[in-house]
Amino acid sequence: MAAATPQVERAAKGAKNSAALAFLRAPKQLLINGKWQPAKSGKTFETINPANEEVLALIAEGDKADVDEAVKAARKAFEEGAWPKMSPHQRARLMFKIADTIDQHADELAELETLDNGKPLTFSRNFDIPAVAETFRYYAGWVTKIYGETNPSDPSFFNYTLREPVGVCGQIIPWNFPLLMAAWKLGPALACGNTCILKPAEQTPLTALRLGELLMEAGLPPGVVNIITGFGPGAGSAIAEHPDIDKVAFTGSTEVGKIILKASAGNLKKVSLELGGKAPNIIFPDADLDQAVPTAMMGVYFNSGQVCCAGTRIFVQRDRYDEIVEKLANFSKNVKVGDPFEQGNLLGPVVSREQFDRVKGYLSIGAEEGAKAAAGGAPVEGKGYFIQPTLFADVNNNMKIAREEIFGPVGAAIAFKDENDVVFQGNDTTYGLSAGIWTKDVGRAHKMARALKAGTVWINCFNQIDPIAPFGGYKQSGFGRELGKYAIDLYTQVKSVWMKLS
Ligand code: NAP
Ligand code: MG
Repeated sequence: MAAATPQVERAAKGAKNSAALAFLRAPKQLLINGKWQPAKSGKTFETINPANEEVLALIAEGDKADVDEAVKAARKAFEEGAWPKMSPHQRARLMFKIADTIDQHADELAELETLDNGKPLTFSRNFDIPAVAETFRYYAGWVTKIYGETNPSDPSFFNYTLREPVGVCGQIIPWNFPLLMAAWKLGPALACGNTCILKPAEQTPLTALRLGELLMEAGLPPGVVNIITGFGPGAGSAIAEHPDIDKVAFTGSTEVGKIILKASAGNLKKVSLELGGKAPNIIFPDADLDQAVPTAMMGVYFNSGQVCCAGTRIFVQRDRYDEIVEKLANFSKNVKVGDPFEQGNLLGPVVSREQFDRVKGYLSIGAEEGAKAAAGGAPVEGKGYFIQPTLFADVNNNMKIAREEIFGPVGAAIAFKDENDVVFQGNDTTYGLSAGIWTKDVGRAHKMARALKAGTVWINCFNQIDPIAPFGGYKQSGFGRELGKYAIDLYTQVKSVWMKLS
């Protein structure tokens, strides 16, 4: 059993929103069939504020028994409930209402996100939560636009297709954008008429639980969204293995993605995986460096580097390497790290002690491998899991710090000779989630966009993400595309109907 009784005032220092504080004080249970209940085992676990290492709340530790009950509820809601059969206009209205409700509670949700994850309030309030509402709103718009086709069959027959929901969907999400990842999963799944079991990450369960309350208040029928907090090996694996779950959608590490894929084989679940990355971010000397330097570096440091598409391999042409790396390092030295509630801080702590130790480990590995810390290179002294924005120079693409996903504010500057060389080095990775190119030469930009093996390529920008555009990986960064119309494919299946006319 978890020991500490959370001291909300102390743990939530900096938070001002009274609704957020009231939510922290209330019990945190599982949402199954529209009702909140403790885990059957009675177990709970702590969720921590990474900025001060204090316990924010105790969370129900759901496991297989709770997942079984949630699947029964989701199955019943799918087979017998109103949701999949509801008129599209009505379902759309409910989803628009959910988006509006999130907007109305944006201050509260942003504070809860900052407390649980550590990201600066300025980002949770101005990026994460607005993007959550927009994702629900975008997919609300899709509800009335999911079309089948009539096909050019022999005239004595009529063939058409229906796009039907997949059924019961298990959705396992990470801690880096907790509520936004919930929205990427729930938005399209609900639009298509599916029912869901959502498992938030153990480190950041709070906003998903508050969302559960808001979904119920908005009038979502019971069993359509069930939320099971808990651990990967207990609740997560029960979802991945469950014989009555039709689809599993996962975002997280490549290592766990492989486990999920294997576990899904039992009943051949449909699987979509959004996994890690080690993106090349390529700065050609003809780029507008005043834009490229800050944007490329924030492409490493945003969210304390805990971003699957972070541009952590910064490629700089050899003949201008020293000069450009100096600019990158100077920018890095001026990025402010600290209390996520304090205006002006661009970096908060990393999410957990585990992640802090992991990133610290890579700082030592970088030094041992012979890379030079041109900026940062160490944790910040004192309470909380803060790490200095770090730029390693003199990195080659074979070093561990260039090959492994660090998931912290750590970039690696690597020299390249010419276009061919940087295409080779950029693609010389097991990952393929994203890539960035900085150049004023339009022809080169488009040639490079084709040559780089990545699911998203940014030209003269970075981390541009919007529900209108697909997102997903090449190679071991996963498969399936979330967002845009592509997520409608993930959450529907096509039925071909034949009728004989004469
Ligand atoms: P992770 O283990 O892959 O966690 C992602 C989600 O999967 C969490 O909800 C987790 O639950 C769950 N999970 C873990 N083991 C599972 C299992 N056997 N079956 C089913 N679900 C399982 O990631 P992590 O351990 O938190 O982070 C490790 C590294 O993964 C990071 O350093 C980073 O490199 C990478 N990562 C990538 C992303 C991304 O967006 N691509 C996000 C997060 C992490 P618990 O939270 O309870 O473990
Ligand atoms: Mg884990």
